[in-house]
Amino acid sequence: MTEHTLTVAGVAVDPRHWIGGERVASAGTFTDVSPIDGRALGEVARGTPAEAAAAVAAAKAAFPAWAATPRAERARILHAIADGVEKRLEELAIVETTDNGALLRSHRRGVMPRVAHNFRFFADWSLTLDHEDFETRGHTNHVSWDPAGPCVLITPWNAPLMLATWKIAPALAAGNTVVLKPAEWSPLTASLLADIAAEAGLPAGVLNVVQGYGSEIGDALTSHPDVRRISFTGSVPTARRIAASAAPHLTPLSLELGGKSPLLVFADADLDLAVDLAVEQYDNAGQVCLAATRILVEETVAEEFTRRFVAKAGALVQGDPREEATDIGPTIHPRQLEKIDGFVRRAVEAGARAVVGGHRRDERFYAPTLLTEVAQDSEIVQEEVFGPVLTLQTFADEDEAVRLADDTRFGLAATLVTGDRERADRVTGRLTAGTVWVNCFFVRDLKAPFGGSRHSGVGREGGTWSFDFYCDLKNTVTAPKGWNDHG
Ligand code: NAD
Repeated sequence: MTEHTLTVAGVAVDPRHWIGGERVASAGTFTDVSPIDGRALGEVARGTPAEAAAAVAAAKAAFPAWAATPRAERARILHAIADGVEKRLEELAIVETTDNGALLRSHRRGVMPRVAHNFRFFADWSLTLDHEDFETRGHTNHVSWDPAGPCVLITPWNAPLMLATWKIAPALAAGNTVVLKPAEWSPLTASLLADIAAEAGLPAGVLNVVQGYGSEIGDALTSHPDVRRISFTGSVPTARRIAASAAPHLTPLSLELGGKSPLLVFADADLDLAVDLAVEQYDNAGQVCLAATRILVEETVAEEFTRRFVAKAGALVQGDPREEATDIGPTIHPRQLEKIDGFVRRAVEAGARAVVGGHRRDERFYAPTLLTEVAQDSEIVQEEVFGPVLTLQTFADEDEAVRLADDTRFGLAATLVTGDRERADRVTGRLTAGTVWVNCFFVRDLKAPFGGSRHSGVGREGGTWSFDFYCDLKNTVTAPKGWNDHG
């Protein structure tokens, strides 16, 4: 413990940067606030461009040795990090809930185990990347997956440690070094991860964490000439700024952005399943990029679907995310709540009807909301709200369903509920989306490609696709002759 240490829900958290294997204080700080009760959790380092540059320098200095470390040894250390995550799972879960307001039970049972799994999966997967050899006219082609160099990873607040480690694990497994910039609304678990990684034996400078506002240090990271990859998860406007900042050095980017995904319910669907999947979209208070926020229902079953949905949504418990019985926690920040409220008010002014919710409960909670009578070209149908707000529209037939589903600038995900396998195949083939779920939602294998089309992102991560991004692939062609064979 130092004079800087914060105690958050009984857990000691160092709020300083982690650069080159050392804690580094910043001249300035910002106040980190819990969305649960608005209480200040403490002062966190408010990074400067010079501190961001120091983190990149540390990552650059650590790169040659880490890149030269055998893959199996890197994998061993990543498994040791996963062990550390599992050992401190309870602490990580309560700190994350206190910091970002998502459900404690989800953090315990789903999110933090997935954080550990991120390390185990990418450690093991890195060992399957073959150094492939093939032959051309007697010449040998040898393909190698070389690490790219220092990577800047920038993450949002809605699933902080899960999204950070989904990037950190493959980047490190590939032999790169990392500078992580967590979101300023949920900075704490990244700091705990730095401790865990150091205890697991990750060499100094291989993982660095810089805290602070993206608007103040983002540019120093993304325009840095020594940065070889930038992986960003967040909003479209920020992605545009990052792309512009990375352009002078042509730094390769992976962008995982927002969505306005549809949930299509056909008349041949199991209606209870459809209602369950629709209500699930309120998870994490709707602050989920993949959320299917546009419910599209076939006209003939729309009334019955709505009746069942209203009953089920009405039974949801909104409250303290630390309570086992809670289904929906608070919104991350009063500013986000204001934004959500603005979207709903403008939609209602434009003619929408709130059949569920439609109002804020107080300054922290927005009531789960379902809006009907919304126009396809309206703001509420076209723009990401990132709150517990769903719209419901009806369609007459499959063609209209596909037309409505595909008619936004996003393409992250789509969910279909249907009892007809051929219809599922037909509709899936016609949709633009990185992930399509049929009669299910949110199930994902880390081997699969993940990402979005159009304004939902650039590139894919997951399995081999992550290594494709985090590696410089090299083909070495060797002639059959020309060796000095001295026996
Ligand atoms: P945001 O874009 O405001 O911030 C994301 C991160 O970018 C933060 O760490 C922030 O500090 C940083 N940042 C801000 N300005 C920057 C700049 N100029 N340069 C570099 N970094 C900068 O997004 P948010 O509000 O934190 O997150 C919500 C968004 O994230 C939603 O649009 C959501 O859909 C999206 N999201 C996408 C996925 C996905 O996998 N596709 C997952 C989760 C969230």
